[in-house]
Amino acid sequence: MCLFCKIANHEQDTDIVYEDEAIIVFKDINPKASVHLLIVPKKHIDSINELEEVDKELMSDMIFLAKKLALENKISKSGYRLTFNVGRGGGQIIDHIHLHLIGGGKINE
Ligand code: 5GP
Ligand code: ZN
Repeated sequence: MCLFCKIANHEQDTDIVYEDEAIIVFKDINPKASVHLLIVPKKHIDSINELEEVDKELMSDMIFLAKKLALENKISKSGYRLTFNVGRGGGQIIDHIHLHLIGGGKINE
């Protein structure tokens, strides 16, 4: 089982900030700004490359959740970055699809 599946199954300790039946959100262990959350579907999908039609609603829900969490974390106005890294060339290290929500202060590249 991959690391993010373990976190989704509560088999690996982490700082969870939101959870429902389909999505879990937790703080990135190595934050690039004062807010750095990982929005992760509980369903294992390797990357954007493996997305299927059936995942449309899930992906949409992840984006709307990002909007809500940005508001709650008071970074809606100042701005934030939403990123899907895809494959090693795109900077993806964990092969379980996830949306980075990064903002608040300077973003460390
Ligand atoms: P990627 O580079 O795959 O898009 O992003 C993976 C992210 O997962 C990285 O920003 C990294 O800091 C984070 N990460 C890696 N291992 C762990 C972990 O065990 N716990 C948490 N909370 N984040 C992790
Ligand atoms: Zn997984």
